[in-house]
Amino acid sequence: MIRHSAFVDVNKHLKGGLHCHTTRSDGRGEPDDVIRLHVENGYDFLALTDHRIYNFKNFAPDVNITIIPGMEMDRSLPRGGIHCHHIVSIGPEKDKGNGFEQAQRFPTAKIETPEECQEMLDMLHENGNMTIYCHPEWSGVLLEEFEPLKGNFAMEIWNSGCAIEDGVDTNALYWDDMLDKGHRIWGVATDDGHQMYQHCNGWVMVNSENNVSAILDALKEGKFYSSCGPEIYDFYVEDSKAYIKCSEVVQIQFVHKRAPYRLVKAAEGETITEGSINVYTGSTEYIRAVVTDAQGRRAWTNPLFFKDPQ
Ligand SMILES: [Zn+2]
Ligand SMILES: [Zn+2]
Repeated sequence: MIRHSAFVDVNKHLKGGLHCHTTRSDGRGEPDDVIRLHVENGYDFLALTDHRIYNFKNFAPDVNITIIPGMEMDRSLPRGGIHCHHIVSIGPEKDKGNGFEQAQRFPTAKIETPEECQEMLDMLHENGNMTIYCHPEWSGVLLEEFEPLKGNFAMEIWNSGCAIEDGVDTNALYWDDMLDKGHRIWGVATDDGHQMYQHCNGWVMVNSENNVSAILDALKEGKFYSSCGPEIYDFYVEDSKAYIKCSEVVQIQFVHKRAPYRLVKAAEGETITEGSINVYTGSTEYIRAVVTDAQGRRAWTNPLFFKDPQ
């Protein structure tokens, strides 16, 4: 049996937000109000990722939440309109190897080639940070424009701000292309909340102890799933069948490149809490699953790979 690491030896899945904005950049909420809103919504950890200004600080020190250090960086690409790379950068605490300072500011830049974006990514990685490729649909990029970028541990497969306002970045466009090209890149649901109502609509559920180092390690290893509502309890392959167990949903979709595909649906007015599919490990390198509840909210597993990385 191969059980997904997100569901092995789980004590508690930590609920976390990896991408949000405050009045420190162009968000509407004060940092302490944004933090308190997440605590009220059951979050265990949160990164305040304001544009080009780094944050380590818990602006609401009286509430119990782990602040993941971070910020959002960007580079503009040629041609008019919105055409850019946005990158969320998250890293360890200052005394655990983070090269950045509280409130350190960074410039934006116009670039012509992928190499120039890679220089910015390399700078973030050299300072101990991990990076997430953000909202590719909203950014107006093509797969070939961000596929060459190296070192992103994850990409956004749901971005609440883009989903609510523009109906884009709602369901993992490009993710299977990246996986099929051999990138072991994880999918994350985030909010990118600027307005208060955009916060707390998409999150990750991480199989980790509650401290910054452990959370970052678990994220890097893909020991998490993403959700806008449903809970996932297990995901594994046994005897050439993949199985998922989850909270009450109306459909379960198994996704991988190449057939067989399968959508497991509840009967009209009913719900299901598990599903399975036959898998042929010779025709695909991974399988992942997406569940949808009666309100249309999704949760996504990370892929289960059938082979070790090369
Ligand atoms: Zn952005
Ligand atoms: Zn953002």
